[in-house]
This record gives sequence, structure tokens and C-alpha cells, in this order.
Amino acid sequence: MIEFQNVSKAYSPDAMALRDVSLTVAKGELVFLAGPSGAGKSTLLKMIAAMERPSAGKVIVNGQDIGLIKRAGLPFLRRNLGLIFQQQRLLTDRSILANVMLPLLVTGAPRAQAEQRARAALDKVGLLERAQAAPLALSGGEQQRVAIARAIVNRPQIILADEPTANLDRASANQVLDALKAFHSVGVTCLISSHDEQMLDAAARVIHLNHGQLVVGATA
Ligand code: ADP
Ligand code: ADP
Repeated sequence: MIEFQNVSKAYSPDAMALRDVSLTVAKGELVFLAGPSGAGKSTLLKMIAAMERPSAGKVIVNGQDIGLIKRAGLPFLRRNLGLIFQQQRLLTDRSILANVMLPLLVTGAPRAQAEQRARAALDKVGLLERAQAAPLALSGGEQQRVAIARAIVNRPQIILADEPTANLDRASANQVLDALKAFHSVGVTCLISSHDEQMLDAAARVIHLNHGQLVVGATA
């Protein structure tokens, strides 16, 4: 479902964020992307969403070469992706329900249907009773679960979560991971990055990155 073939990324000639990375993620897999800050985890996830292009090598998502997708094709790619990235904050001027409805409304879904789907998505992350709350009235962990609901409301095949547990206490972090794993358990492919080794799930596949390279000996 996701394949990196000898992928390198240089933001500038002396800033190699990824070096010759090759890996395959199968449909339905849960994969943790581990490594210290600056290891290239974000860059790797962004490439799957075509937010960054490889400098060398190929990234294939659902049989499509990301490097060849034209701007007009990006919405079609991203429709299959649920993105949970730090820069995508919740809109603070509206309820969490309205935040989760937004991805459906922009694709033209009728309001009533969007609301029903958004409520179902909030239910899945355990926040249905807070539907009318403002984002800033929620804890960090709850806000992150709203971001998950927003990311999955379009029923993507793949979820990409960049450091979804950063800055959360252990209990909140576990709730966020449980919410993500619930989607994995219904067949969604999940890639989750974390610099915190404590957050890695012993049962799941872990890909280790360091200085932009896969750590030798770790499974890929
Ligand atoms: P991680 O997510 O593991 O912290 P990143 O992928 O964010 O790692 O960063 C990998 C390397 O690429 C770092 O050295 C970082 O400074 C650099 N980098 C990331 N984004 C950019 C950018 N837009 N321009 C220049 N350098 C960048
Ligand atoms: P509804 O049919 O009302 O949308 P569901 O219980 O079938 O209710 O789905 C609830 C929500 O779960 C969906 O709106 C969607 O946000 C989310 N979801 C995302 N991906 C999947 C998936 N692969 N399978 C089931 N639900 C998913």
C-alpha cells in the first residue's frame, strides 16, 4: 500500500533529511516510526501525503508514484489519507462538532449527513458528549482525539499521525493511541511517529530512523 524505494530528501545540499530509505507498509498494518527529534520522521510522513517530494527515489502510495502526481491530483490522493499533523490546529471559533464536520462539508456532503457522520466519528474517539464544546475547553489529549475524529471522518484507508502524543501525559497519550488503534482494528493502515520510546507499542511493528536513515537491524 505504501512503498519507499531508495528515497532521499535534501531540503538543501547540506541538509539531508532522509537517506536512501526503502520500506514497504502493507494494507492494514500498524507501524510506529521511531527516532530522535530531527531523524526525518515528519519528512517521511509528509512524503506519503505529497507535502514534500523526494529528491531521489520513489514513493508509491496505492500504486501511484507520488512524484508524478500533478497539483490537480492531490485532492484525490489526500481523500484516502487521514492526516494528524501538528500544524493542523483545530479552529477555535467553532465547536468540535463543527470542526469534525468541516472535511465532509468541503467535499460537498449535505449538512445533515455531515453532522451524523461527525457525531459517529466523535463517538468513536469517546467525545460525543462534548460535541458542542469549544476546542480550547478541552484538554490537550481530548483536542488530539478531536483531530483524529476530523482525520477519519472521510473514512480514509491510511492514517498518518505525526507525534500525536507529544506534550501529553501518559494517560492522555494512551487514550490517543487507543483511539488510533481502534481504527487500525477495523482495517485502516496506520503510521504513527514518536520520539518517545516509551510510547512505542511492543506488539506493533516499529521502524527506527536516525539521521535520516533506517536503523540497521530494525525491521523494514
Ligand atoms: P523529525 O520529524 O524526526 O523530528 P524532520 O523530518 O522534521 O524530523 O526533520 C529532519 C531534518 O530535516 C532535520 O534536520 C530538520 O531540521 C530538517 N528539516 C525539516 N524540515 C525542513 C525544511 N522545511 N527545511 C529545511 N530543513 C528541514
Ligand atoms: P456512519 O455510517 O453513520 O458514518 P459508522 O459507525 O459506520 O457510522 O462510522 C462512524 C465513523 O467512523 C465514520 O463517520 C468515519 O468517521 C469513521 N471511520 C473511518 N474509517 C473507518 C473505517 N475504515 N471503518 C469504519 N468507520 C470508519
